[in-house]
Amino acid sequence: MKFEESDRLKSLPPYLFAEIDKIINKKRARGMDVISLGIGDPDMPASEEVVGVLCREAGNPENHRYPSSYGLKIFREAVAEFYNDRFNIKLDPEREVIPLMGSKEGISTLAYTFINPGDYVIITDPSYLVYKISTIFAGAIPYVIPLKKENGYLFDLNDISSDIAGKAKVIYFNYPNNPTSATCDINFFREVAEFAEKNNIIVCHDNAYSDTFTDGIKPISYLNADISKNTGVELNSLSKTFNMTGWRIGYAVGNNKMIESIGKYKTNVDSGVFNAIQYAAASALKNYGKYSKQNNEIYDIRRKMVKKALEGMKIDYYDSNATIYVWASVPEGYTSASFSKMLLEKANVVVTPGNEFGKFGEGFFRISLTINNERLKEALDRIGTVL
Ligand SMILES: *Cc1c(COP(=O)(O)O)cnc(C)c1O
Repeated sequence: MKFEESDRLKSLPPYLFAEIDKIINKKRARGMDVISLGIGDPDMPASEEVVGVLCREAGNPENHRYPSSYGLKIFREAVAEFYNDRFNIKLDPEREVIPLMGSKEGISTLAYTFINPGDYVIITDPSYLVYKISTIFAGAIPYVIPLKKENGYLFDLNDISSDIAGKAKVIYFNYPNNPTSATCDINFFREVAEFAEKNNIIVCHDNAYSDTFTDGIKPISYLNADISKNTGVELNSLSKTFNMTGWRIGYAVGNNKMIESIGKYKTNVDSGVFNAIQYAAASALKNYGKYSKQNNEIYDIRRKMVKKALEGMKIDYYDSNATIYVWASVPEGYTSASFSKMLLEKANVVVTPGNEFGKFGEGFFRISLTINNERLKEALDRIGTVL
């Protein structure tokens, strides 16, 4: 039979990494040892105790039935407790928290819940690609504002024309930021909240890296800004903080009416998150201090290794101790793509070219810290040798 992809699928931006993927696959097929510093997917396992809770709850037939789209009480309460302990934010677990199948699902769900075809959606560049893709899927128009190094990768609200400010429906952004690793302070969140309130724009702050950090900085929540709960939701995830990317569990917190609408959408699409996973996630959140400390100590060692190696190669990087990435400038004479390609061809090392995250990422590349110390050292040594 003849079939065609939907217009929405066909309208996705081209996958820039496709050419690099092809080269990786060819090299691996030839038995070559390619080291990837490309993907942000923790190499460490989830805690054994959390796995234990999953196994126990998976054995309970009660949990084999459809979950509620609005989640288990024990999970919602664990999120509220975490937000209270970690950010000093009071949430009503009944009305201001909902589980998601990861923050990624939340980005897409939010788009389908609130955005109409033809609406404008404000997104940053460079950025996590899912904001743009979800916008396109919902039939809306991405309005891109740049993140610039000279502004510490904080966007400038003045880059949003008053015409667009009046029309835009949603703004997506994230600090600690993927890919740049930049963080922001409460004043920045306040400015965004005031702008959103004034212009009736729904804020979707994605705090997936709230607890991957070391040394002196402690990321905050968008909900720390006074009027933020009027204006939107924050997404958060167990993926990066607890090494649970494969489990598909995250949550949205914030404006109770928006949370209710999100639940209404989910009831009609996915019916919510497996209860056993919610029990396990609740136990992880209750011990977040222990688990995030263990992870962050490991990332800290790796981050220091990368920074030191880049300094040795005279490669400029953005100095931050947040997220699980280092964002660096490509050396003179290269573009993001040509540098990544050269490293792959000559050193068998994969880094993510910055333009993969949008045109303002051109001139940069991203190294992920989700690989063990020996392999990371090997990769850095190889890069040093070919430069
Ligand atoms: C990794 C990542 C996510 C994905 O989180 P899941 O909870 O696994 O869906 C969301 N947002 C950003 C910015 C990320 O880097």
